[in-house]
Amino acid sequence: MCGIFGYVGSKNAQEVILEGLKRLEYRGYDSWGIAIVADEIKLNKKVGAIGDLLQTSSLQFPTSNIGIGHTRWATHGGISDTNAHPHLSSDKSFALAQNGIVENYSQLKSALLKKGYKFTTETDTEVIVKLIEDKQITKNSLKEAVRVAFLELHGRNTIIVLTKDNQLIAARNGSPLVVGIKGKEIFFSSDTLSFAPFTDKALIVDNGQMVIVKDSKLELFDIKSGKKIPLKIEKIDFKTSKVDKEGYDHFMLKEIHESPYVLNQIVNHGIDAYLDFAKAIKNAENVYTIGSGTAGVAASQIAFYMRVFGKVRAEAVIGADIYEYYNLLEKNDLIIAPSQSGETADVLEVLEIARQRGVKIASYVNMPGSTMIRLSDFKFLSRAGPEICVMSTKVFTSQIAWGYLISKVVSGKGKIGLENLKKLSIAMDEYLNTESNHENIKKQAKVLAKKKDIFLLGKFQNFNIIKEGMIKMIEGSYIHAHGIPAGDLKHYAITLMERGVPVIVVLSEDVAKDDVINAVNQVKARGALVYGIAPKNHDKFDYFIPVPDTGETSAIMNVIPLQLLAYYMAVERGNNVDKPRNIAKSVTVK
Ligand code: GLU
Repeated sequence: MCGIFGYVGSKNAQEVILEGLKRLEYRGYDSWGIAIVADEIKLNKKVGAIGDLLQTSSLQFPTSNIGIGHTRWATHGGISDTNAHPHLSSDKSFALAQNGIVENYSQLKSALLKKGYKFTTETDTEVIVKLIEDKQITKNSLKEAVRVAFLELHGRNTIIVLTKDNQLIAARNGSPLVVGIKGKEIFFSSDTLSFAPFTDKALIVDNGQMVIVKDSKLELFDIKSGKKIPLKIEKIDFKTSKVDKEGYDHFMLKEIHESPYVLNQIVNHGIDAYLDFAKAIKNAENVYTIGSGTAGVAASQIAFYMRVFGKVRAEAVIGADIYEYYNLLEKNDLIIAPSQSGETADVLEVLEIARQRGVKIASYVNMPGSTMIRLSDFKFLSRAGPEICVMSTKVFTSQIAWGYLISKVVSGKGKIGLENLKKLSIAMDEYLNTESNHENIKKQAKVLAKKKDIFLLGKFQNFNIIKEGMIKMIEGSYIHAHGIPAGDLKHYAITLMERGVPVIVVLSEDVAKDDVINAVNQVKARGALVYGIAPKNHDKFDYFIPVPDTGETSAIMNVIPLQLLAYYMAVERGNNVDKPRNIAKSVTVK
């Protein structure tokens, strides 16, 4: 799920590539690498994040106007300088970087070993390099060798190749690939945001296509047939592409603070654009909401709102856990997929299969020009601006707020939904800008950051919210957290309630309130320490974190104190808040 970047043009390639990689770092930061052409291919690759490199040293490459770069999230082979991309061919005539997994790499490798090829890394990527070398023996051009080699790869992959004779070649099947164009300057990348400072004109490369730039000429080909395809250049809508901490210590805190703005983006968009979509939801036989990780929780909350307000039988499914549903997907069904990147492999695979069955697809995506948007019948952009912290905050808030609004439109009460979101945005803004809220949460975070296990309780509108709180704590502080449905507690997790265990409870003024209070009593009776996030204090709370009561949108409001708690816990533990260990933001591998 790495990021790839390529550049050719009048600027110094290494500088443009470094800038691009910095913007792609959310996709992986195990190692980075850059290759440029200056008479020969020069390579520099190292373990660590590109950001670290920028602070400590420079590349010390000669000036060049062509090159490629990669930021890795290792899937095959340890995190080492040798396994870092790009990988150089044996005769040093080309360098290659990959995003994805070559699922048949061991079969390909055995065949190549038998032919006498030697391998110096443990990656699946080097197999592609050697396979291209092998094809070069029979093909008369490198382009042809890349094309036929790529056809032999199984899995979701995108590769980018830099040749010693100043060509850039890239091929796509599954993992993202976009090309930015500014006159004679060409940018290859995994997302459009990485070249946003340079251009808003882009060619979105589809699966099964390859692009080549030679002598400033860009050409697109169908990989299977090798035939040329006409270029379709699009204008990308980058409203807010600025990537800057703007005085905050971390992107996470800045992005939490942007939540009211994100809600306003939804409010300002109005409801007219959703009327046909709402009709399709009502007419669908089955509505499935699908996502992975935090977007999976958002999908679940969207389904909740569809059931409660839209009176629609909506069901949430996790992207990677959909197999049994493949039997059920039919023409009159509708899938709703919220996603930050629009490139999550687990979800894309579902959408591709669903499309073949004639299922209608709706997506709510933050990254303009992404694959999910292109697969969708109903396409909506969240316009939340770049989310740089690997942990999703403002985009999650945007996704569930959007789901709430859609459910209201479905029920014919879209205007009330808009009004409620407007009020929520104001309440959230005030909450976030009240110092005492931060001080209180920081104080609790200091204590919680020392615990081994943290439990969270919630029900009804808050069940997904505590699950999201759990995810944020696990991601940010590496502490074991466990979200428990408040009503189900007594059936199993009650065994874990001992003296002093911390239990965070999220309580709203709703139909579930009494049940949740019962659960609070049950854990208190066993000596648990209860941290209550609620509009009103309760005598069973040991610590109280007040939140405004925003009625129907309370669950969305309750996300904020949980995100802040997770943020301050991560800071307290001295963790890398914006880049937690082992995870990447956009998971484009299965
Ligand atoms: N499979 C390749 C590797 O482990 C690329 C992974 C990625 O997409 O970052 O090096």
